[in-house]
Amino acid sequence: MANDHPTSKSNHNRPNLVRRTPFPASVSQAVGTPLQPAVVYASPDASALDDQYEGRAAGYTYAREGHPNADVLAAKIDALDSAPVPGIVLGSGMGAISAVYLGLLRAGDHIVAGDQLYGRSLRLLTQDLPRFGIECTFVDAGHAENVAAAMRPETKLVLVEVVSNPTLRIADLDGIAAVTAGHDALLMVDNTFTTPRALRGFDHGADIVIHSVTKLLAGHSDVTLGYAAVADPALRQPIVDAAVTWGLTPSPWDCWMAERGLHSFDLRFERAQRTAGLIAEHLGGLAGVEAVIYPARPDHPDADRAAALLGANPGNMVSFRISGGRAQANAFIRGAGEIPFAPTLGDVGTTLSHPASSSHRGLTEQGRAALGINEGFFRLSVGIEEPNLLMDELTAAVAAARAVP
Ligand SMILES: *Cc1c(COP(=O)(O)O)cnc(C)c1O
Repeated sequence: MANDHPTSKSNHNRPNLVRRTPFPASVSQAVGTPLQPAVVYASPDASALDDQYEGRAAGYTYAREGHPNADVLAAKIDALDSAPVPGIVLGSGMGAISAVYLGLLRAGDHIVAGDQLYGRSLRLLTQDLPRFGIECTFVDAGHAENVAAAMRPETKLVLVEVVSNPTLRIADLDGIAAVTAGHDALLMVDNTFTTPRALRGFDHGADIVIHSVTKLLAGHSDVTLGYAAVADPALRQPIVDAAVTWGLTPSPWDCWMAERGLHSFDLRFERAQRTAGLIAEHLGGLAGVEAVIYPARPDHPDADRAAALLGANPGNMVSFRISGGRAQANAFIRGAGEIPFAPTLGDVGTTLSHPASSSHRGLTEQGRAALGINEGFFRLSVGIEEPNLLMDELTAAVAAARAVP
């Protein structure tokens, strides 16, 4: 009876705390999406693992290589975008852009990109890719002729953000698609600002569509995620391999959170967009506001193209310029009630950004002026709050700025 002795060296009768316990059976099914945080997956035997690696059987092996929460999220975004080939979820929007470059380009290739890009996207093209022998030419994407003039025999990819940040200019997407098709280059559309509600890149000839899921799609500023999808199935695996090798793949938790956020995406988008229209009109009527930029306004410089490309979905972003300099800008920010001064967009709550001191601080004053950005320039990402509350806060902010001598 040695084994029954409390000091026995054999612990077989102790409860097993290390081995995993399956969930208890339930005839009723959970309504929420399950979260699978496991990094590793056990296969029945070596031949079963062969089948998985060779693509003869579906299954996961290691979370950096793929996991169910990423696939569930990707499928939802695929449906929004009408993606012809299953999309790929990455750890951030920049991860999505990077995975495309790493998977599809090589030293000696050339990129043409719009000149008003998201700051890090611009940095990647100006500082990082050149170290790997990939050059980029920047052009005003408002005119397809500029893209045509910048194309070289080695141009492999053209990057366009359809609605520019922060001046909300509209790219000549259809013209650019015709140019890239004629040159056998890939057209990549960063659809973060527009979202698939306003524009589906594949309907306009895009070869690659990427999103920062961090923004409107997830919508709650509590995850960073990205998404990339391609039209040609042959381009998918190189991007997946780059993401897996360079470690750009996402965490299950973030995917789960984003998928949860997507449940309300349509409602959030509609509400925020409707409020953005009201705010654009309201700001336009305030003394002290010099200009309002919103794609649905008749005075928008690309109003016709905005109507053609975005239809009834001008989006939730409103930019505007108030009179004065830094002192007035500071008073505006401090006077804007509880609207956070934060350099992001697409949150459920409205956020205010000041490009001169954040996204565009790297430019010279002249460089900013050429884009129409000065100290009085603000960009508002409209959220889903009560519109009247926002209008009151903005009215107070404009008054606070005007009170500065
Ligand atoms: C935020 C953003 C990105 C980068 O996305 P992250 O998720 O922050 O990495 C890329 N493009 C645009 C237009 C963005 O707004």
